[in-house]
Amino acid sequence: MGVLAGKTALVTGGSRGIGRGIAERLGREGARVAVHYGSNETAAKETVAAIEEAGGEAFALGQELGVPGDAAALWESFDAAVGGEGGLDILVNNAGIAASKPFATLDEEEYDRVFAVNTRAPFFLAQLGAGRLRDGGRIINISTGLTKTALMPDLIAYSMSKAALDVFTRDLSKVLGPRRITVNAVAPGIIDTDINADWLRGDEQAWAGAAAMSALGGVGTPAEIADVVAFLASEDARWVTGHWIDATGGSLS
Ligand code: NAP
Repeated sequence: MGVLAGKTALVTGGSRGIGRGIAERLGREGARVAVHYGSNETAAKETVAAIEEAGGEAFALGQELGVPGDAAALWESFDAAVGGEGGLDILVNNAGIAASKPFATLDEEEYDRVFAVNTRAPFFLAQLGAGRLRDGGRIINISTGLTKTALMPDLIAYSMSKAALDVFTRDLSKVLGPRRITVNAVAPGIIDTDINADWLRGDEQAWAGAAAMSALGGVGTPAEIADVVAFLASEDARWVTGHWIDATGGSLS
């Protein structure tokens, strides 16, 4: 039996990339996983199938984030899917978008979109999800190492949106602490996912440059982030809250 047997988890953006890695890992630990996606239902179904093939339990939930009413609509579908028993133990706010553009050219619409998906959606998912979360539950927000370094200034709005998520993590831990719900952030460095595909994959020089940033030498994988999330979701991490975990492979040192 996995350490999360009997638990229910919702992973936003669980259909691809880091979220898929997290969904599969939580599934292997015995959690029933709600695999959320925005528009790519096929990817979500593939992730659900992978979890089931490994002996786990999962279902897909589609909802665009970053639009008015997104959190309420997602919880409505979640409630319908889990049925009468209801309840949630682990919320992973993973879905996110990047906006790489020089400071001088990023427009208001792009700025608002980044904040709507990366900051506002996790805020209201947690606010409306808090009543569904059982005492002793977990909220895990996926941040980025870029909130602690100015290494990539073209991602300025993205990094700002995640810095707000870090503060949200810290303060929310005080709000939900009396219920023994922990709230933590995990900050990846460069991970090989679709979000980086256009500049990283197939470009040997870019890959070598990204790998050289890590003290451990290499580009991270979704599984490396998922393992950290699995620890935070487990009983072993019950006394860790309001924390920001550097999962950049030593890219900040
Ligand atoms: P990814 O491969 O692009 O996957 C993004 C996931 O989020 C997909 O499941 C996608 O679903 C969902 N999503 C995106 N926008 C959405 C929206 N508006 N509404 C609903 N769902 C949406 O990204 P990733 O690299 O795995 O990143 C996951 C998280 O890690 C993000 O928060 C990102 O900022 C953070 N992060 C990534 C890296 C990295 O190097 N990869 C580094 C640091 C932090 P659909 O396909 O259905 O839209």
